[in-house]
Order: sequence, then C-alpha cells, then structure tokens
Amino acid sequence: MEIREFPWGSDKRYNDYSAWFRSKFEGKVQKISIDAGFSCPNRDGSKGVGGCTYCNNRSFNPDYCRIEENITGQILTGIRFFSSKYATMRYLAYFQAFSNTFAPVEILRQSYEEALRHPEVIGLVIATRPDCLSDEILELLEEFSERCYVAIELGIESFRDETLQKINRGHSVAESMAAIRKIAERKIDNCTHLILGLPGESDADFISFAETLSGLPVHSVKLHQLQIHKGTRMALEYRDHPENFNLFEVDQYASLVVRFLEHLSPDIIVQRFVSSAPASMVIAPNWGMKNYEFVAKVDKLLKEEDSWQGRLM
Ligand code: SF4
Repeated sequence: MEIREFPWGSDKRYNDYSAWFRSKFEGKVQKISIDAGFSCPNRDGSKGVGGCTYCNNRSFNPDYCRIEENITGQILTGIRFFSSKYATMRYLAYFQAFSNTFAPVEILRQSYEEALRHPEVIGLVIATRPDCLSDEILELLEEFSERCYVAIELGIESFRDETLQKINRGHSVAESMAAIRKIAERKIDNCTHLILGLPGESDADFISFAETLSGLPVHSVKLHQLQIHKGTRMALEYRDHPENFNLFEVDQYASLVVRFLEHLSPDIIVQRFVSSAPASMVIAPNWGMKNYEFVAKVDKLLKEEDSWQGRLM
C-alpha cells in the first residue's frame, strides 16, 4: 500500500501532538499536574460566582496530585509516580487546576520558580482563562520562556458568545481571540481548549470553530466531548431538561472529529480529542472507552474515508 506523507512529516492523518512533543524534547518528558491552590475569577466573585456550569474542577486532577502538598511536594510525588515507569525522565510542571494566572504577579513568579527549582523540571504548562492574562502577567511568562519551555493552555470552549453566556464562562469570544494573539506575539506556545456538544450548538458550529481556529495564531488544540459531571450546575440542568442536551454517541463524535479535522489548518497540532474525567464523576455520556481506543477509531475513520487534517480548507 502507498505510504503517504502529510504536511507535518508523517503518515499520521492529523498533526499529532505526541509526535511533535517527541521531536521537541530529547528523551522522555512527562507533564506533572499541579494544583497550586489558585482560585478562579469566575468562582470568587471577581468575574462571576458559581463558575462555569459544566465545571467540577476536581475532575481535572489525577490521583497523585494532592492539594494538601505544596508545589515541591506535588512535584516529588509526581516524579516518584512516573520515575518507576522509566529510568530517565524529565518533567514539565503542569499548573492545571483552576486559573493559574489568577494571582498577583509576585505570587505567580514564586509558584513557577518553586516548580522549576527541581533540576529535572524543564518547563511550565500553565492553564488559564483568556481574561486572566494582563500585559504584566504575559511579560512574566515571556521572561520564563526565555529560560525554559513555556506553554499556555487557554479555556476557549466555544466561539459563540451566546453559548459562553449560557454556560456562564464570564468572558467573550473577542477576549479569547485577543488572548490567543497576545500569547503568540510573545512567541509562547498556546493550546486552545474547546468543548464540542454544548447545548444549542450544531455540527455546523463545530466546523466553523475549526475554521476560526485556523485563522488565528494557534499552536495546538485540545478537543473535549461534552460530559455532564456530578456536582455541577449543568448536572441539574440535565436532570431537569434533558431535552436541551444532545450528548454524542461515540461513533457520532468520532465522525464529527473527522469533519472538524478536515477544516482545521495543518499547522495546528492536535493534542487530544476526548475528556478523561474519572468514570465515577461522569453522569453522561459514559462510553467506557480509553483515550487511545478513541484515537484508534479516528485513525481508522480517516483511513477508511481517505481523509486528513486540512483536506477541506
Ligand atoms: S472551568 Fe475553569 S474558568 Fe470555569 S469555573 Fe472551572 S476553573 Fe473557573
């Protein structure tokens, strides 16, 4: 069979993050999730209260990440967890829980410095909101990026203002776009998070999101299928009005991912297609499928349809 090479230099039918990651860093590198104890302006009243309707932030933390430990403790626990799997390993400190640029600059500096103090930590991945990136904070992150790898993960979730209001995000599409541009201007890698399947959105909307991303200086994207998590406002909305939700079956979502990829610029690296909250926290949909099994499904579909990322751009 003919082996085809795509613009990102492999026969994989989309621009795969794991391949990019391996070429970026020498040797084995692993992200260690950290909960640095930051809050979120959409919970403490600065921007809103109650948070985004789908958010139960505890679902972001892996088992080894314990908020009772300080940053150094969490890094040591993470290293103990991963170092038993591989003899030599280096790490990126992944500030994952809540909004990790939502604090005074000096506190942020101390937190990032604490993570980098461990000699095997070679970079920072910082998850935050588009409206938590003042020029002062971007300057700080740029300063760090001059001495180590830095990436910023941005919760964009939707490119429809109506949806952002409905899910109580507390920021606008314009703010998301401005944040992406500002991060790129500082030559820092950005990763945009999108949720596919939010109430009121259609497949045509999701395809338009791929097109919008393609027109922005986006480095990578993480897609998530909408899941209803226990303990969230959305769980109550789902209980009271399930007719307002159109949760994906696994095959339906795999097909949508293929359509999304076809309209996504080949330059944008794809980090993931699905969420992976612990099953005990998920109300619906419960696919009972591992990430790698879903990836295999998308790979198979792309091959069967002889399609690839950016084919319909
Ligand atoms: S999803 Fe992020 S921004 Fe929204 S409430 Fe949760 S922590 Fe805050």
